[in-house]
Amino acid sequence: MNGTCQPGDNFLLQPIWAAIRSHEDLLLSKLFPTCFVFFAHLVACLYFILLDFMEPHVPCLWRYKLSSQDSRNTKALWECLWKTASNQVVCIPSVSLLCTYLRPQRLPDKAPSCFCLAFEVVQCLLLFDALYFCCHFLLHRVPYLYQKVHSVHHQYQETFALVAQYSSPWDAVILQMTAFSCTALLHCHPLSEMSFHLLNIWLSVEVHSGYDFPWASHRMVPLGLLGGAPFHNLHHQQFKCNYAPYFTHWDRLFQTFHFT
Ligand SMILES: [Zn+2]
Ligand SMILES: [Zn+2]
Repeated sequence: MNGTCQPGDNFLLQPIWAAIRSHEDLLLSKLFPTCFVFFAHLVACLYFILLDFMEPHVPCLWRYKLSSQDSRNTKALWECLWKTASNQVVCIPSVSLLCTYLRPQRLPDKAPSCFCLAFEVVQCLLLFDALYFCCHFLLHRVPYLYQKVHSVHHQYQETFALVAQYSSPWDAVILQMTAFSCTALLHCHPLSEMSFHLLNIWLSVEVHSGYDFPWASHRMVPLGLLGGAPFHNLHHQQFKCNYAPYFTHWDRLFQTFHFT
């Protein structure tokens, strides 16, 4: 492994990694990355879908909802689900090709240390945020790209969890290739890679959830470094602001940061 961290003896992560590594054939299969993303996305969405169905009957949730719109639209839920599943099929060839050439063909024996895992995940998140900010900025500023690639994702101005992967097939390929490139470019340990993808999926669902809870990820990080659901909700409503997926520094730097 050529990453920034070397695997270390770790009493906490080693048993977890040994259990995961026992399924090496499955982990290294061509279909695994896209299936992993799809099912992790569904699990993350399930939490917010349940809240959407509970919310009209639970008044204490009302104050955390960013819009007054009823999110219990079963037709929209099925439409999003179908689009997400069909996009994964389109993503399989490109992601598999990327993984074949850029990922290790064997899994390391040792787990990373906790520090190494956290360090690599933060690095990946920052790199993903920077790369997707550039792609997203272009997708909005070049009219042809907006029309042909990105406009589908903006069909919903009021977001809900499943909108996170409601996009055109090309948009889905860009998003997944960006995420998988980050872990490959940084030569992350496979456990860091899986942790990054899980965190990335959770954050993308959370920013589209339409809820701003006191325990939301952006409230756990100081100085407004993460924008959270209010930040991305404004992007869906105003189009020409808040292009970064999670962090706010790129939009502050390029003066595209809006916040109410
Ligand atoms: Zn956009
Ligand atoms: Zn969005």
